Formats: sequence, C-alpha cells, structure tokens
Amino acid sequence: MRIAVLKERAAGESRVAATPETVKKFIALGAAVAVESKAGQGASIADADYAAAGAEIVHADGAVKGADIVLGVQGPDPALLKGANAGAWIVAGLDPFGQRARIDDYANGGFEALAMEFMPRITRAQSMDILSSQSNLAGYKAVIEAAGQYGRAFPMMMTAAGTISAAKCFVMGVGVAGLQAIATARRLGAQVSATDVRSATKEQIQSLGAKAVFVESVAGIEGEGAGGYATEMSEEYQKAQAELVSSHIAKQDIVITTALIPGRAAPRLITDAQIASMKPGSVIFDLAVAQGGNVEGSVADQVVVKHGVKIIGFSNTATHLAADASALFARNLFNFLSAFWDKDAGRPVLDEEIGNAVRLTQDGKVVNERLLGAQ
Ligand code: NAD
Repeated sequence: MRIAVLKERAAGESRVAATPETVKKFIALGAAVAVESKAGQGASIADADYAAAGAEIVHADGAVKGADIVLGVQGPDPALLKGANAGAWIVAGLDPFGQRARIDDYANGGFEALAMEFMPRITRAQSMDILSSQSNLAGYKAVIEAAGQYGRAFPMMMTAAGTISAAKCFVMGVGVAGLQAIATARRLGAQVSATDVRSATKEQIQSLGAKAVFVESVAGIEGEGAGGYATEMSEEYQKAQAELVSSHIAKQDIVITTALIPGRAAPRLITDAQIASMKPGSVIFDLAVAQGGNVEGSVADQVVVKHGVKIIGFSNTATHLAADASALFARNLFNFLSAFWDKDAGRPVLDEEIGNAVRLTQDGKVVNERLLGAQ
C-alpha cells in the first residue's frame, strides 16, 4: 500500500494534505508514504521533516508512481496521476459541483475519487470532516482580518485621554465558521450579535455570550435543518430578513457573513442600500465570496470600498493559516482512512454509509447520487 502526497498546484493554495505527524501514523499502519518535494513549503514543513518521519521524498516526475492512494487538499490535475495504480483512490477536497469535468476525467482514468466535502454530518465522521476543520479556522481569520482593516479598536478602552467604545460586530450565518467568528470577536472585546435561519443556532449564539437577532414574523428552519444544512428560504422569509438586517446593520461596525447553501450559490444577505446605511469606516468580511458572495459588490481577494465601507473576503480563507489548516486537514484524512483500515487487506475498506456518501467515481463511471442528482 503506497500513499502519495502531492504538492498543491492551485494558485494561492499553501496547504498540504499530510504532515510529518500523519506520515508517521500511516507508516505505523503498514503503508509506505511518498511526499513530493516542497509539498509542505507553504505550511512551513521542510522535506527533511517528512523524511525524518519516514517518508520517501519524490520529485514531480513520477511522484504518484505505484500509488494506491493519492492525497490532496484540492483535486490534482488528472495529468499528474499518470503512473498511479489502476483503481487508485484520489482523496481530497474535490469541489464536485464546481469541478465536474475533472471528476469525469478521474472516472475515465479508472480512479476512485473520494470527495472529502461530502463526508456525512454524523457523529462518528466529525473527526474526518474537512469542512468543519477549515471553516473553524476561516471564522477566526475573518474576524482577525476585519480587525486589521478596521481603523479603530475592538475592545472598550478607558484611557486618560478618554473612553473608546467597543466595536459592534454582527455575524450572519452561525455554522462552524460563524460560531468561531462570534467567539473570536468576543475575545477581542467586541459587542457581538448574530443571526441564522436555523432555530437551533439561537441557543448556541447565546451560550457564547452574543445577542441572537432573529426573524420572528416568518418561520425559519426548525432545529438543525436537514443534515445540519440550510435550504433556500421563501420569498416571504427573505423579505422579513431584509427588513431585520436593514434595521440592525446601520448600527454595526463589523459584519461577518458566512451563509452557505450546499450545491447552490450563496444567499444574498446584504444589499448596496444596506451598505450605504452603515457608518463610513465599517468593515464587512464576506466568507462566502468564493461561492457567489453574501454581500452585493464583494470581490474575492480585493478590498472594495463602497459608501466608505470596506468589503473584503478571500477566495480561500483557510490557506491564510496554512500551517494549522494543514495540520487539521491532514488529521481529517488520517482519521478517515485509519478508521476503515483493514489489517488483513493492508488497506482501507469503506463501509456503505460513508463510502457511498464520499465516493464520486468507480469502475470508470460517476456513481455519486448527490452529484448525479445535480445534473
Ligand atoms: P454552512 O457552511 O453550510 O452554512 C453556514 C451557515 O449559514 C449555516 O448555519 C446556515 O444555516 C446559515 N445560512 C444559510 N442560509 C442563510 C440565510 N439566508 N441567512 C442566514 N444564515 C443562513 O454550515 P456549517 O458551518 O457547515 O454548519 C451547519 C451545521 O452542521 C452546524 O449546526 C454544525 O454544528 C453542523 N455540523 C455537524 C457535523 C457533524 O456532526 N459531523 C459536521 C459539520 C457541521
């Protein structure tokens, strides 16, 4: 059983799918691990650290030669997979809806592509969930970045020269990223409020010491929502939400938006008119900018100034914390593969529930129901 770890090639991607810690653990399971030279550079991990953990350092040419499993943060270009064993697994964040043509290439190449973002939201899969581990860091980074762009301080300060009032921070969308954004903004001393469409988040917001701001006139999504996910809301709800946001947002200094709907463009939560109502110098961080954006006019990786308000957002937020993001991502992959490790077979053998959820391609065909259903 040979596992290959490729250097990421997507623009701006600094993470890596294995760390010396996970390399050591894979070797302890009986696998051989090959790591492409400089794969860890963006995450401050040297080739020598991988070699000390027992990995073979290989060069781009033939990096996947003889591999049974190829690990990636993002899906590798199929051209890089020449030489991998027939039926090799590609285990990565494959962006199944966005990279459909590439998924077909994996099928045609005879690979078994496993999309880690399709990990089901069940208790036993929590430690394997790349969306959670990366969103958590992204929520933290959004607040830190917004604080960096804000020309004022977050905490209330009583100084000899007078008092500075605390920043008011509003978090829209309280999933994994939103909860971490609330916690981070609170730690920095801001006065925090938050909203979501799922009623289960109300208690979570309050337990973090923030104020829950919810649409009350129209029913939202009961409890957690299906599989923990939101769906598109009715027009009536959207109208009520827009009114609520309009009255609340004008008083906010920092807004962090994180709202996502799986397989769809991100819902639009903030309009240009609402931005115009905010105080000049306020900052909005749009964590959904790469999925179409929650904020009108947000552009990935640019500071857009509208009505004196700075609107920011990264196309890939977790990559800005590459060392920690890689450490958690790599553990997610190890937790996944080791949970299914079959000692006799000397390789992982997936069960039906998780296997069917994450497997996109098999025996030359696209087999994933969620992906086929989206056609
Ligand atoms: P997400 O990234 O899909 O969406 C972010 C948030 O935006 C969600 O809370 C969603 O309800 C909200 N949202 C969507 N449309 C909105 C709108 N129009 N207005 C306001 N908010 C809107 O969500 P996520 O971070 O992946 O987490 C969602 C839930 O799933 C959480 O409760 C989390 O605890 C749970 N979860 C469970 C597991 C597990 O059990 N293995 C793993 C991950 C997440």
